[in-house]
Amino acid sequence: FPTTTNPDTEVSELIEREIERQTTGLQLIASENFTSPAVMAATGSVLTNKYSEGYPGKRYYGGNQIVDSIEQLAIDRVKELFGAEHANVQPHSGANANMCVYQALLEPGDTILGLSLDHGGHLTHGSPVNASGLLYNFVAYGTGAEDRIDMDNVRELALEHRPKMIVAGTTSYPRRLDPEPFKKIADEVGALLMFDIAHLAGLVAGGAHPNPVPYADIVTFTTHKTLRGPRGGCILSKQEHQKAIDKAVFPGWQGGPLEHAIAGKAIAFREAMDPSFKEYAAQIVANASALASALADEGFRLVSGGTDNHMMVVDLTPFDAELTGKVAQATLDEAGITLNKNTIPDDPRSPFVTSGVRIGTPSVTTQGMTEAEMPVIAKLIATALRERENPEAIAQVRTEVADLCSKFPAY
Ligand code: PLP
Repeated sequence: FPTTTNPDTEVSELIEREIERQTTGLQLIASENFTSPAVMAATGSVLTNKYSEGYPGKRYYGGNQIVDSIEQLAIDRVKELFGAEHANVQPHSGANANMCVYQALLEPGDTILGLSLDHGGHLTHGSPVNASGLLYNFVAYGTGAEDRIDMDNVRELALEHRPKMIVAGTTSYPRRLDPEPFKKIADEVGALLMFDIAHLAGLVAGGAHPNPVPYADIVTFTTHKTLRGPRGGCILSKQEHQKAIDKAVFPGWQGGPLEHAIAGKAIAFREAMDPSFKEYAAQIVANASALASALADEGFRLVSGGTDNHMMVVDLTPFDAELTGKVAQATLDEAGITLNKNTIPDDPRSPFVTSGVRIGTPSVTTQGMTEAEMPVIAKLIATALRERENPEAIAQVRTEVADLCSKFPAY
């Protein structure tokens, strides 16, 4: 790690402690992963020194010949990976990517349909505390029977409100997101269709989830979740939207692009083209499915009854009616198991407390764990939560977690 040459011991020691935390504990946050040393080297490279406002071949400052080649490589690779007509690799984050799309294709006040936050949508899909909800008239659709997205509800709302855009995409939804039904509704009401595959990008790239690119006008995603690249965002679009998208990213929302991150994205896109990435994507899903059923055996309820993708939302109530997501998250942190509290559909508790947790398998899959380890993880979670008032039991789980992780070194 480059930290070994860092003379700022205050920071380098903290980074060393974070390396220790990440590699001796179980990382079960659905939106996290272990990126490759090659990606980390790029993000820690001299590219961080360079200003390159504009796009390849059209920059405002000099000295961008090499940066142009790097950004073009990232663009070409991601277009090939997803079969896209146009790509903008500059968004600093997934949130930025979404705001850029809205600015590119809509006017403030326009109506957009998006999945509500408490049913699995993202803040940038119209939350009233987010700029998306302040600038645009979002109408929320939700999940219905068996906690599946209610496509009849989407259609009814689309016919009633005639949105200019429909946003499909989720942050805590454990089921397949089929593009065809969304496309059908968007066409029926003449709306643009945007798919936000922040969580799913790695599964799509690895063939473990349907690819919305042929159906949607726009596809946005983050590069750091299942895709396993550096932190950042990306926008794919039909050719006809190229000008508007590029203008909304720069100069619309951003200044100088982060070319060190873009180099990392280029590397991650190539890693995702390797045949081994298909196995990795399939293993993520197999692991999630195995973990979900092992957790059900321990007495938890899986929202929607299970999972089709890399994550699950776990209702803690049948396991222990007193146990909140907040307490579960803090208890498991003590035991070396990192995950996040999450609302369940129609949760009676607030988003700061919650009745559930969200669990994902991308990081443990990157470490090389398979279905065999999933019941072990489920048992460690159940034991820590059952024994949450017993510090010795928590310490014992912590030791067992570290033992398990030492057999699957992340680096
Ligand atoms: N869109 C979805 C569906 C997400 O889940 C997330 C992040 O969790 C984002 C957008 C935002 O990404 P970022 O945190 O990079 O802004």
